[in-house]
Amino acid sequence: MNRAWRRKSSSGFVTEPGARPTPGFSRKGKGQKAKGNWQVKNRFMLIVFAFCSLPFAFCPLLFGFCLFSSAMKSYEKLLRDNKAWAAEQLKLNPNYFDGLAHLQTPEFLWIGCSDSRVPANEITGTQPGEIFVHRNVANLVINTDVNLLSVLDYAVNHLKVRHVIVCGHYGCGGIKAASTTTDFKPVLNMWLRSIKDVYRLHRKELDSIKNEEERYDRLVELNVVEQVTNLAKTSIVQRAWKNENRPHLHGWVYGLKDGIIKPVFEMNAGTPMDPIYEYTDL
Ligand code: ZN
Repeated sequence: MNRAWRRKSSSGFVTEPGARPTPGFSRKGKGQKAKGNWQVKNRFMLIVFAFCSLPFAFCPLLFGFCLFSSAMKSYEKLLRDNKAWAAEQLKLNPNYFDGLAHLQTPEFLWIGCSDSRVPANEITGTQPGEIFVHRNVANLVINTDVNLLSVLDYAVNHLKVRHVIVCGHYGCGGIKAASTTTDFKPVLNMWLRSIKDVYRLHRKELDSIKNEEERYDRLVELNVVEQVTNLAKTSIVQRAWKNENRPHLHGWVYGLKDGIIKPVFEMNAGTPMDPIYEYTDL
């Protein structure tokens, strides 16, 4: 008899020539049984070895990935993430970019600080196309700043925005720097001078605040009030107030510690101000 019987072991089927199926194990001699056990063990060890070798097999891949990541320049990551973002938007809405490319009708002009922690869209939960943005150090409105005035003119007279928001933020580095007597060299000194003027206008109140951080925070708020007032002093805003009863001006302060925006000042269209600033022949 040369039939092969098969017994199911933990590692699969083992062929045993001449064996007969009996409960538990097959019919065979002592030597055959030992040989069968060795085969089972051998196969088991091979599987264990193969399993343990897997991480080493992936090592070159992991090493290559790490090398690739470290070699990628930081700005290249921005470009890669941009592609991922664009693909994600298209997945959510296949017409997303078609709509944006054809029309821009923002209702708001945002004048904020250049600080990277205060991105207008993110902190207001708005999408591209909803806010027209201008940013500079400490969100200043300076009447000789051609950049800002161009943005203001375009937003008010062409985009027809209904609201202009000046948004400062607590913990502003520009405000802190202006509160010191440090020489930051000509260009920065010139820019920060406007904040020192705000300090001088409100010195009595500010000097009475003994806690340094609280004093900075109050100067942030007062600076926003002054910048909104500076907007109202422009003929761009006053002409729009007279002809179209817009835009309304808002002064806000963003909290870095809690992410909340606090309104601190408002000037609706037509709000009276010191007569020396009001143009009577618009
Ligand atoms: Zn700032």
